[in-house]
Formats: sequence, structure tokens, C-alpha cells
Amino acid sequence: MQTVLIVEDEPAIVAAVRERLEREGFAVLAAASGEAALNALAEARPDLLLVDVGLPGIDGFELLRRVRARGLDMPVIILTARGDEIDRVVGLELGADDYVVKPFSVRELAARVRALLRRAAGVASLRAQVAAAQGEAPPAPAGLMIDPARRRVTIGDAPLELRPREFDLLALLARHPGQVFSREALLRQVWGHEGYLDARTVDVHIRRLRARLAAIDPAAAELLQTEWGVGYRLAERSP
Ligand code: CA
Repeated sequence: MQTVLIVEDEPAIVAAVRERLEREGFAVLAAASGEAALNALAEARPDLLLVDVGLPGIDGFELLRRVRARGLDMPVIILTARGDEIDRVVGLELGADDYVVKPFSVRELAARVRALLRRAAGVASLRAQVAAAQGEAPPAPAGLMIDPARRRVTIGDAPLELRPREFDLLALLARHPGQVFSREALLRQVWGHEGYLDARTVDVHIRRLRARLAAIDPAAAELLQTEWGVGYRLAERSP
């Protein structure tokens, strides 16, 4: 499941966007100020940001500047109230990928979100191919190829059959190689907020995922590592 962080101080807009994106299968996080967004980004790594320009405290532009300064390169759509051309230009120069002018249709916004995420996935897989062609280590673990658009995973040439949640779990870990995720963070980002699931649900899925990986290549299963007392990570390469 892909996660969108909306940074917006108007609750009605947050509610409308959240409702639409959740209906389309996204997990939605919300922050009402730039400071809250920076705190959220210290814990979670959303796939896309929606950033209102007019925020209390640091504004959307300053937030964008700090996000890029931290090396975070997820797609960003800015929400601008004024329909002001200057805002759009400044936003795009600061590293936004797209903008919408308020009032906007949530349907239109959701379409932009999907289009940007598709493009981002294409760029990531292209980067991996280029890196592989240049003989560098690709960002995803060697041998393990994940195609988010087709929801397909292969190890070498062998396809890996996964249940939807297993795929989401693996894809999330693979997007952040080496990063440890707590079971709670995985529950939140893969299963979403609905349901009151036990953290052991994550353990069960990790176990199954390891078994499926091991059935094809034991070395691939070793990439899926347990950080005792903390959570799980997908290693960048075999230990
Ligand atoms: Ca605002």
C-alpha cells in the first residue's frame, strides 16, 4: 500500500482528500503544519507529499526546501490557494512535481497522485536498470526485482507468487533498503488504519514471506532481516 502525507491546516480539505485517497487504496497521513510534517517525516517515509503553500509557521515552500535538503526525493504536489502563477513557478523551482489550484476536485487530485506515483515507479526501475548496466549495485537487493505497477516479483528469472499483503510488505521494505520498520509502522503502512490487528500479524506475514523467498533462493530469504526488539528490514545485499 502506498502512503500519502497531506500537509494542510484546513480540516475540511484534509477530510475530503483523505476520504478519496483511502477509497482508492492509499494510506493517508496528515499534518496540520510544516513542523508537524517534518516530525512525521522523521518516522515515516510516505511515497508522496501534498503540501499546502499557506501553512501556519513555516510555509509550504520552506517545508519543501527542507524536505529536499534532507535528501527526500518523493514526488510532491503543492496545493496553492491563490492560483498565483508566481506560487506555481516558485513551487516547481523548489522541487515540487506538480500543483493544484484551490478549490480543486479531489478526483482530479487523486488522478494526479496516481500519475506521479506511476512515473516515480518508472524512474526507480529505470535507475536500477541503468545502475545494473553500469555495473553498480542497484538500489533494490541484487537479484530481487519488484515491479510495483504489475505487482510482480522475480528472483533471478523465477517469479515469486505472493498474497497481496505479502507483496505490499515486501514492496514497502524494498523501497527503503536497510531501513528498519517497527511492526506498528508496518501495520499502519501496509494494513492501514482500519481493523485492530495484532503486531503478530506482521510476524506471520514476514515468516511466510521468508519461506516463499527461501523456496526459490535461500540467500534472498536472508535479505529479510529481523532487528530484535525493533522490527524488520530488507538488507541492501546478502550478509
Ligand atoms: Ca492553508
